[in-house]
Amino acid sequence: MHEHVAVVGAGTMGAGIARVAAAAGHPVLLFDACEGAAARAIEGIGADLERRIERGKLARDEARALIGRLHAASALDALASAQVVVEAIVEDRDAKIGLFRDLERIVASDAILATNTSSISVTAIAGALAHPARCVGMHFFNPAHVMELVEIVAPLTASEDAVARATALAERWGKRPIRVRSTPGFVVNRVARPFYAEALRAHGEFGIAVADVDAALTESGGFRMGPFRLMDLIGNDVNFAVTGSVFEAFAYDRRFAPSLVQQELVDAGRLGRKSGRGFYDYAPGAKELDPSDAPSGVAPRSVVAYGDLGVAAALVALARERGIAVEERAGTDARIEVDGVALRLTDGAQAAEHARHAPSVLYDLALDYASCARIVVAAPDADPSPLAAASGFFRALGKSVSAIPDVPGLLVMRTVAAIANEACTMLPEGIDDATIDLAMTLGVNYPLGPLGWAERIGWDRVLAVLEQCTRLLGPERYRPAFALRSRALRTAGAT
Ligand code: NAD
Repeated sequence: MHEHVAVVGAGTMGAGIARVAAAAGHPVLLFDACEGAAARAIEGIGADLERRIERGKLARDEARALIGRLHAASALDALASAQVVVEAIVEDRDAKIGLFRDLERIVASDAILATNTSSISVTAIAGALAHPARCVGMHFFNPAHVMELVEIVAPLTASEDAVARATALAERWGKRPIRVRSTPGFVVNRVARPFYAEALRAHGEFGIAVADVDAALTESGGFRMGPFRLMDLIGNDVNFAVTGSVFEAFAYDRRFAPSLVQQELVDAGRLGRKSGRGFYDYAPGAKELDPSDAPSGVAPRSVVAYGDLGVAAALVALARERGIAVEERAGTDARIEVDGVALRLTDGAQAAEHARHAPSVLYDLALDYASCARIVVAAPDADPSPLAAASGFFRALGKSVSAIPDVPGLLVMRTVAAIANEACTMLPEGIDDATIDLAMTLGVNYPLGPLGWAERIGWDRVLAVLEQCTRLLGPERYRPAFALRSRALRTAGAT
């Protein structure tokens, strides 16, 4: 038996959610305050289904049945039979409360009222209703019919029955629901903040080119899209507003402070792809921004690897595969020596600090050193000779090499450490590692969940990076979460 579902708001998200419910067999009523919008949304779904039929991805009967279950409602009163209402109207607290108060008078007393809000406190919405127990959040991701994750937001006021019903419904809709509390940004939008913030800082405060940051995060970090391309895709106005609302909801904790660089773009109307220009220029014929490449160096015939290279250990096997002789020696200062230059994985300190006694280069974190296409390196004041040795070595391994200024934690490592740190701030809120990692891999396509990734890097190194960034850049963004510090101490104690 399929419950009657109503979706209010027939924009991007509402249309997607209605489509998901109809695909799962529910009769769906779609209502929008703007006349004709619901009918247009259903037409849009029909056109998309038609394209899927043409590409052989959907049977015509199935498409016809799906469309047959979608009905535009001409007034809110028409939703009286709905057992579940999902709202996806404008992101405005009073508008959402007003809508649910109206619906309380229309639908049955046990109907679920679910909000798709991205940033408003679900507790604040539910708390304003006559029957708050049946109000929950169902936070879908865009495009709703494609993205698997749904955050089921359980406000303090929700009944277990309502949360269980919303969860079961999401499962029947082919989604992966995770239960979260009504905290600002829930899981995904909160844990993802540093992905954007660290890129904006690298560009705005350290002057690293947008294309270099994106290349580092994609070609080395394994993220599907670089942060600047992604902000342009989301819309700088939307991304800036989400950051602003998380910042405000955390009582202006500076670790969520929005970026002035992004504010400038918003003020200038450079919203990203939708306006034709953002960090990148999308005009036809506009010049492509390519990442800069470090000057090439000479490939070494042999190198010496000292100590346990940890997450970067694959470099040794790769070097041998590429015909470079590698002598392995024990030691506590893990590094690869190339022509007297020490290459170390960043620990958050500056290359200049490591270079006090011998020429030194720091390299950045890569998702997979064996297969990544690029390695990011930094030397003190871009000293050309150590950089040439590093560049010669990594190029001999088949990598592109980016040389960037000597910034603490380089690009990928600082970003991953900050994301893992934010994830750790959530652990005491009663959510576990697996749920957070699932949320970030399904909700924003991260190549690895941040907690699993930190485990792989080593909690002690992640803590070191955060502590060094705190020392060199200030505590606002990098103060280590208590749970992260505990894990680092535990792993250090175990070895
Ligand atoms: P949208 O602007 O595309 O659509 C909103 C629709 O709601 C419009 O058609 C509008 O006419 C209608 N509407 C506004 N007020 C209404 C009211 N009082 N009653 C009925 N209809 C009303 O917006 P969207 O991107 O689909 O976002 C909708 C909601 O989903 C917001 O709360 C947003 O934060 C959330 N959300 C958006 C995304 C996203 O990526 N776009 C992702 C997750 C959640």
